[in-house]
Amino acid sequence: MRMMRQFELVERVKAYDPLADEDAINRAYVFAMKMHGSQKRASGDPYFSHPIEVAGFLTKYRLDCASIITALLHDTIEDTPATLADIERLFGAEIARLVDGVTKLNRIELQSDHAKQAENLRKLVLAMSEDIRVLLVKLADRVHNMRTLHYIQNPDKRRRIALETMEIYAPLAERIGMQEIKMELEDLAFAELHPEARASLIARLKFLREHGGDLIGRILEELRKTLADAGLEASVSGREKTPYSIWLKMQKKNVGFEQLSDIMAFRVVVDGVEDCYRALGTIHSKYPMVPNRFKDYISTPKPNGYRSLHTGVFGPERHRIEVQIRTREMHEVAELGVAAHWKYKSGDSGQFTDGRQYRWLRELLDILEHASNPEEFLEHTKLEMFQDQVFCFTPKGDLISLPRGATPVDFAYAVHSVVGDTCVGAKVNGRIMPLRTRLENGDQVEIVTSKAQTPNPTWERFVVTGKARARIRRFVRTQQRAQYVDLGRAILVRAFRAEGYDFAEKALEGVLKIFKAASADDLVAMVGEGTLTAREVVSTVFPELKTRQQRADNVVPMGRKGRGAAERKDRSNAVPIKGLIPGMALHFAGCCHPLPGDRIVGIVTTGKGVTIHTIDCENLEQYADTPERWLDLSWGESDGQAHMGRIDVVVANEPGTLGSVTTVIAKNMGNITNLKITNRTVEFFELIIDIEVRDVKHLTNIIAALRATPSINSVERARN
Ligand code: MN
Repeated sequence: MRMMRQFELVERVKAYDPLADEDAINRAYVFAMKMHGSQKRASGDPYFSHPIEVAGFLTKYRLDCASIITALLHDTIEDTPATLADIERLFGAEIARLVDGVTKLNRIELQSDHAKQAENLRKLVLAMSEDIRVLLVKLADRVHNMRTLHYIQNPDKRRRIALETMEIYAPLAERIGMQEIKMELEDLAFAELHPEARASLIARLKFLREHGGDLIGRILEELRKTLADAGLEASVSGREKTPYSIWLKMQKKNVGFEQLSDIMAFRVVVDGVEDCYRALGTIHSKYPMVPNRFKDYISTPKPNGYRSLHTGVFGPERHRIEVQIRTREMHEVAELGVAAHWKYKSGDSGQFTDGRQYRWLRELLDILEHASNPEEFLEHTKLEMFQDQVFCFTPKGDLISLPRGATPVDFAYAVHSVVGDTCVGAKVNGRIMPLRTRLENGDQVEIVTSKAQTPNPTWERFVVTGKARARIRRFVRTQQRAQYVDLGRAILVRAFRAEGYDFAEKALEGVLKIFKAASADDLVAMVGEGTLTAREVVSTVFPELKTRQQRADNVVPMGRKGRGAAERKDRSNAVPIKGLIPGMALHFAGCCHPLPGDRIVGIVTTGKGVTIHTIDCENLEQYADTPERWLDLSWGESDGQAHMGRIDVVVANEPGTLGSVTTVIAKNMGNITNLKITNRTVEFFELIIDIEVRDVKHLTNIIAALRATPSINSVERARN
């Protein structure tokens, strides 16, 4: 292939930026050529053709001189003897910073596993938040690498690059409004990932083209005439959609090949905003509109700044077509994306936008800071970038754009983290709705907050935005840690006391290293979490105890070892569970549903804290051989919280009995949370009912009241 010459590149840049530093571009060109020397690409071309292609590509977007130079130099540090210091000395600090940004990304790109890919994305986000030009050079690099992907021999490598392009680079290009780059990347990746599907789509398109004659031309002509007759000055263009966008639509709508219509897109560019709506009116009054296809991105622009009217109509010759209507200015933004905002004023060589002004970029950074690991980050961002948007409003009329499927909790977090953290309810269009409601386009959302509220771990199951999920997870993590520390301390206090010592964190300091704990708190949390037993800690702090303990272990009778400890009369040494939040360090067993007042015992589960069973739960048998996991627990003072009790009820199969069951429970202040019919015969119903109660006495009262009701045959507390 023919390589772009040095003077051609300079001329291209000077065409839009007359003040560009010609000398620096020339020096960069020569430097890169010299450094890459005789290196070759997989295609057999000289390696140097690659940076030139990347630089040339960027001139299409009228990028500033520094970006063009960065493009020329972008692989020198990675692949040649050149160093960052050389670049800085020869081209200055700004270029060195940009080249460094791109290089850091290259370095990990070659890694294949998921963690590395996530790390790559993390670095990319950091680099582009410093300077969005790093991303632009990176995208151009990716476009050229995708165009030459077929030269790479290794199919796994090709596939990995294509996947990364599809999942990360194409959505990023879309985010900064580089529509054309996005479409090209997607189509090239599509060709690698689904070659057969793409080939048959192309064949089908070719067939339609050949049988329709010059269909696009005829439609164009009619559209032009229609608009001209209405007195509108408009330039109209038309094209076939890309195979990938058609394929996506086929998948979404589940339509087959034969029904494939809607494969042509037309663009109407007019002078002013008013003309856009006039053009829309003209088209809609002449052609029937396809329902649900109209979108007004002029009054509510996309987050990347894209503005246009979109509609679908049964157009000329009754062909289903898509029409986009926009002004010249909107068109420029749509074509150039962020690059449309660089202005080349006289005396100033390109004004660059700091990446941080992009709201979505700030959000990515925010997630980045709070995600516990890069994979978590990748998961958030990938999901989010793929989703369509819904637009909702605050009561004051501010627009909040969210991914499809977003809930009021996502909305609350989008408004402000504090609003999210403290939200207790939501009014959607004036009506109180559950927090898990999926929001629709145009919903007005009012968030009710309470200072006493904290993020609920269960929210994580239904939120869809990365920001909300990251905040909730972070809260759960810190909260969980605090709980593990509390529980661990209670366990250690008891273990120390059993040996006749008072527990003091100071005593742990000497053994931190042995357990690889960073601090005393850390060690205590490990005990609470169950990754370390209290006995291991005690016997390490007091080595002289070890032998005595082993001897003691041996005399415990076989079988119900653990239960022996729990059944001791003296419960003063039991760990109180008061103040520990269920679901974090503590879990109530699903088999026996312990209630305050029940005799309970804890089973330590490695990494999960403690599961609480009633002392007579049959499931405890399986832990008989691991007494070290048993933990004496007591309820502590009542916390006034509701607990779930479960009862088995058998009632006569006659009208009204179910009603009397629920009435009796309600009269006794029990709140039914679940009711299931487990068995049904001609005479009887058998039910399982979950009731929120204060404690075991409360449940006993309810059971007694039920037993006193005539149509109820039997009531038992459910066991397993
Ligand atoms: Mn490269």
